[in-house]
Amino acid sequence: MKYIGAHVSAAGGVFNAVTRAHEIGATAFALFTKNQRQWKAPPLPQSTIDLFRQACSDYGYGPQQILPHDSYLINLGHPVAEALQKSRDAFIDELQRAAALGIALLNFHPGSHLQQMSTSDCLKRIAESINIALDKTSGVTAVIENTAGQGSNLGFEFEHLAEIIHHVEDKSRVGVCIDTCHAFAAGYDLRTVEQCEQTFTAFERIVGFQYLRGMHLNDAKSQFNSRVDRHDSLGEGNIGHTPFKWLMQDPRFDHIPLILETINPDIWAEEIAWLKAQQ
Ligand SMILES: [Zn+2]
Ligand SMILES: [Zn+2]
Repeated sequence: MKYIGAHVSAAGGVFNAVTRAHEIGATAFALFTKNQRQWKAPPLPQSTIDLFRQACSDYGYGPQQILPHDSYLINLGHPVAEALQKSRDAFIDELQRAAALGIALLNFHPGSHLQQMSTSDCLKRIAESINIALDKTSGVTAVIENTAGQGSNLGFEFEHLAEIIHHVEDKSRVGVCIDTCHAFAAGYDLRTVEQCEQTFTAFERIVGFQYLRGMHLNDAKSQFNSRVDRHDSLGEGNIGHTPFKWLMQDPRFDHIPLILETINPDIWAEEIAWLKAQQ
């Protein structure tokens, strides 16, 4: 069973994201539970929480079919103490919001060293941030996303993800989300079936499929190994249709949210229908 959807808008209230997902034929969805460009948001009112939970129940979205994304401002590996604390507090708030909504996962980008600390120290700091946050919350798994490696963003090598997980104490509440555009831009080729097999054999060896809790299905406007993060619609970019067809036929990607963050929301319904048809 594949859960396929898109990162839909939560404008007007998080419950609207559920309806929008349903309208495009999605069996999974992603959302922001607060404005992703602001540090603080008022707590979710109980009436909003109730409407969200009711909509999920009405349209058949279980906890494993929803993959919220945290704020872009958060940097769990920040080299400066004050800014690190601000990020940790905001991350805990994001986990609590997800828990209140009955969501089991929270997707986030690992963090950036900002050229002020070593990769290895930054990865340890990110793991420490996750440990603190998991200790202060319950019920939600921290899902680390691989990145394209723009600037000083870590998480572009599978080894980075493995190193963070290595230092997380509660391994039952940490996982990863692999974004196909980010992987491609970071030098993991996916253009042929053979390259898909190679990339995910490496993933299995270095991280392990037991940690795979979601996927972002994006084609890439950016070039292979360019370390540039530019998404494209499926089949329109430099990756092409092959990996998306391949993924749909591989049971290792069953029962996790497979989320489009492609650039044209007007064709999400078509992209979802195409993905479903590849199974
Ligand atoms: Zn992504
Ligand atoms: Zn991206």
